[in-house]
Amino acid sequence: MVKDYQNSIAEIHCGQVMHWPNLSGILIPCSQSEKHLRAMMNIPPIDHYPERYQFKYCPRCATLLERTLVYELERQRCPACRWVHFPLPNIAATVVIEYQGKIVLVQRDIEPDRGIWHLPIGHVEYGEDPADAALREGYEETGLELADPRFLSFTHGPSYGDPKLFYIVFGYVARAVGGTLTGSAEGMNVRAVPLVELPPLKWTSQKAAIAAYRTLQGF
Ligand SMILES: [Zn+2]
Repeated sequence: MVKDYQNSIAEIHCGQVMHWPNLSGILIPCSQSEKHLRAMMNIPPIDHYPERYQFKYCPRCATLLERTLVYELERQRCPACRWVHFPLPNIAATVVIEYQGKIVLVQRDIEPDRGIWHLPIGHVEYGEDPADAALREGYEETGLELADPRFLSFTHGPSYGDPKLFYIVFGYVARAVGGTLTGSAEGMNVRAVPLVELPPLKWTSQKAAIAAYRTLQGF
């Protein structure tokens, strides 16, 4: 389970200390409310970061990182240049494409979940507006030029490929205004289906986007 670490927190003495005995064993002065501390219990400690965030050396100056208390949590910090590792969730955008009165689905061609049909989805690039990412990913995966993005949904949760890696996914609806429904350069299959015939979608982000879209459509 992703959140087993909740059970490793032995006890909270609000106003005194918070103790993570199974992790680093450090004692954290509790200057915040109990409610705040309980919210912080949902934040994964360093040892529960995904593999890609298990840094050993500073990415700026290559010094061996140390573990220390920064902003009330144990974090990795560089003793030389003072760089601190603040891990962030991945950001993605998915899009409900309105095309000739239908919704466009693409077939996943990589693992995990190879073969399932889903809404176009992809990572938001650094500095890119999520709405622009939805239009871009929609075009890249279907060949359709898109316009008029409208916000539908927002989800936060673990990745299906790596449950330690968290994703924030923005859902949009957009209109197809040009191009040809051809699929992606990688050979991804595409099809358009009426909303009433849409098959169940697997991913939480996609379910949320479609639910919001159905509400927008009045059913
Ligand atoms: Zn450094």
